[in-house]
Amino acid sequence: SPTDTAASQALTSQQVVDLTRQYNYGTWRFQRNWNPMHIADAEGCYLIDGSGKRYLDFSSQLMCSNLGHKNQAVIDAIAHQAQQLSYAMPGYATTARAELSQLLAEILPKGLRKFFFTTSGTEANEAAFKIARMYTGKSKIIARYRSYHGSTIGSIAATGDPRRWAMEPGGKGPGVIFAPEVNCYKCPIRHTYPGCNIACADYIEHMIRNESDVAAVLVEPIVGTNGVLVPPDEYMPKLRRICDENGVLLIADEVMTGWGRTGEWFAMNHWSVIPDILVTAKGITSAYVPLGLCATSEKIAEFFQDHFFSHGHTYEAHPITLAPAVACIHEMQRLNLVERARELAPYVEAKLNDLKSKHRSIGDVRGKGLFWAVDMVKDRTTKEPFNTYADKVSGKSLVVDQIAAKMLADGVTIQAWVSHFVIAPPLIVTKEEIDR
Ligand code: PLP
Repeated sequence: SPTDTAASQALTSQQVVDLTRQYNYGTWRFQRNWNPMHIADAEGCYLIDGSGKRYLDFSSQLMCSNLGHKNQAVIDAIAHQAQQLSYAMPGYATTARAELSQLLAEILPKGLRKFFFTTSGTEANEAAFKIARMYTGKSKIIARYRSYHGSTIGSIAATGDPRRWAMEPGGKGPGVIFAPEVNCYKCPIRHTYPGCNIACADYIEHMIRNESDVAAVLVEPIVGTNGVLVPPDEYMPKLRRICDENGVLLIADEVMTGWGRTGEWFAMNHWSVIPDILVTAKGITSAYVPLGLCATSEKIAEFFQDHFFSHGHTYEAHPITLAPAVACIHEMQRLNLVERARELAPYVEAKLNDLKSKHRSIGDVRGKGLFWAVDMVKDRTTKEPFNTYADKVSGKSLVVDQIAAKMLADGVTIQAWVSHFVIAPPLIVTKEEIDR
């Protein structure tokens, strides 16, 4: 019987962990340090391990489980789509694709009206780079330090953090040059806001004018993994103007910041700036299924009416990835999750500032909506971090990892990265859970 089959195949938690370690790579780490926890179940804001212990997920896994787990409407959408049509090649029209496209046209920043669906944020960025290059006939992408854009050759080449270094022993990735990040807590070009007059944006203009062949400027509107770096309000409108004046496209990588995370559907909405290309993934399906999106402006769409669009994937616009996205968006609307993220922001901010007032090791707290960083420093005056990326790749035990391990023992999971934490609970989080 099915029950017997299930029972005969049941693995103990230890076997699950051992087999996982034996046959798989643990990402971004020494393999010998990888001791994965067996996650057997999940519900709402909680993960449940093999022994039944519950963990409050305070970073939505990889800042992607925005809706929380076991949302019945999303589960039903996956099941229904699987029964109806589990695959059709991307050249066909499907109901899921038509419905999602219609919804996206309503929700995305105005004018972004042509869509290319992928199965990850990485691939959506790759599509954006190719589209920008085909459209402009130019090749270079200006990205920024402290950014992350994905793990394939093109997207890691555009990544401004040290994860890129391993793939470029012979020099920078093809066609990418880096500008200083916007980081008012530790300005890389030693200015102080507001007296700086947004010199970091001027720096990008200087680069465009002194480089040939620049196709696009690529930004995470609010830098995610590398510390939730929120730009001053003047930055994005200024960057838009610089791009327009210099005939360069603006690509917004909203893989992490999209879908209500920052208290707007998309972070660019905070500044009413419309990029030429918007890339997103993660929250589009709240990670129930893998889906990425590259959305482009009408003018780019028009260009490809008469130019060969030289790009595609087998799993592009896969119906089982699109149907749950429709359900996710409807659930976000029904539960008012974008407003909720906006409304809970001052509450989270007050709690984090309270922590900061008690602990000198917290140098800075910053964020928007339900997207915050807690920046840990040895010394508040010098802002020296507890650890650097070099410590991480040398296998040293990081202070933030020690704290995260303690929190895990207490039943809370949180993303720690080098010397900061990313606080990004599912958007359904309650005040009581935030208090905890
Ligand atoms: N861009 C940003 C801003 C991200 O945060 C990520 C992943 O964390 C990516 C791109 C890559 O997305 P994926 O991991 O889905 O390929």
